[in-house]
Amino acid sequence: MCIFCQIIAGEIPVKPVFENDQVFAFLDHEPMNFGHVLVLPRNHYENIEETPVEVLQAIIAAVKEIGLKIKDKLDYPAYNVIVNNGPEAGQKVFHSHWHITPRLDVGEIIWPPQKEYGPGEMEEILEKLLS
Ligand code: 5GP
Ligand code: ZN
Repeated sequence: MCIFCQIIAGEIPVKPVFENDQVFAFLDHEPMNFGHVLVLPRNHYENIEETPVEVLQAIIAAVKEIGLKIKDKLDYPAYNVIVNNGPEAGQKVFHSHWHITPRLDVGEIIWPPQKEYGPGEMEEILEKLLS
């Protein structure tokens, strides 16, 4: 059983910050800022592609609710919602999950340098995505 399934099953005691029949959310134990929350489906799905659309809808509704609490109860002005989807994207726990990371200042965000398309490259990518 994966570590998040063990948490949901109560084998590793973790107090939820939000839960319903489809979703379970708790504090990340190594927060980017205090109040960093992980939101996940109760059932084990490895990544976004495996997670059914109805479950994704329940997750994003929970993200909205928890995000409001992060602003109202913890007094943060903003937050990021991050999914590391796949090992190359930084996913370490292979039970799909959404990070809600409270933000105080835009300077906290580390965003990689952005690239520029060469001539025709953007159109080529678009064509592939539309095919
Ligand atoms: P990933 O890199 O897979 O997107 O993120 C996994 C997250 O889970 C990390 O931010 C890590 O701190 C958190 N995490 C891993 N194991 C535990 C745990 O046992 N308890 C809690 N509360 N968080 C965990
Ligand atoms: Zn799991």
